[in-house]
Amino acid sequence: MSKLLDDMNALAAEISVCKDCMLHLTRDKSVPGEGNVRTKILFIGEGPGANENATGRPFVGQAGNFLNHLIEIAQIKRKDVFITNVVKCRPPSNRDPLPEELSACSKYLNRQIELINPLVIVTLGRFSMARYFPLQRISAIHGQGHWVNERLIIPMFHPAAALHQPSLRTAIEHDFSLIPGYLEQARQHFEPKPVEEEKPAEKPSETGTTAETDSEEAAQLSLF
Ligand code: URA
Ligand code: SF4
Repeated sequence: MSKLLDDMNALAAEISVCKDCMLHLTRDKSVPGEGNVRTKILFIGEGPGANENATGRPFVGQAGNFLNHLIEIAQIKRKDVFITNVVKCRPPSNRDPLPEELSACSKYLNRQIELINPLVIVTLGRFSMARYFPLQRISAIHGQGHWVNERLIIPMFHPAAALHQPSLRTAIEHDFSLIPGYLEQARQHFEPKPVEEEKPAEKPSETGTTAETDSEEAAQLSLF
């Protein structure tokens, strides 16, 4: 197993026994998140609901089914991305997470982001958006990517809110269709700029290393 996977699993184990806020008293299972730890795109929701609390997996209820549909619109596969939440244990009756719960739990999300190191982060709903844009309104900035600390952050409506409201549903479906373009934009941002070489072209025998490095890079970037 890779070090990255080991570290992510160790973090999930820590989360499963965490008692750092009141939510541990009412949870059945904590929900650390799941997916491909080498993804370039991370989705951050709000918190587990009833189905997530029962299974320990994120977005597996009705909102999860709708998120699966949205991820298809974005032309990506759920197994290729990582999905987590701002709080890892279910708030009773799906109430909003409290400020002290958000702050107690944020260390885990911070470490997940550090480990995964995604190019693009899609926030789902107000609470994950507030990590990056605390003073903004989601109705004003949904679907708009902004660079924050060298990551492209795209705030989206929460799938559970959008599911039953036709105008939000149309908006979120449209916003997800923009994801492939944002991923391309993020890739290009990090692509090494072509350097004008003055030295003569390398002989074919010397280009082996360069070609290998290039294809390694390309393989890394296409891993999601
Ligand atoms: N399921 C989750 O895991 N998170 C949400 O925000 C909603 C449903
Ligand atoms: Fe710990 Fe987060 Fe669960 Fe609170 S919500 S008990 S901080 S894992």
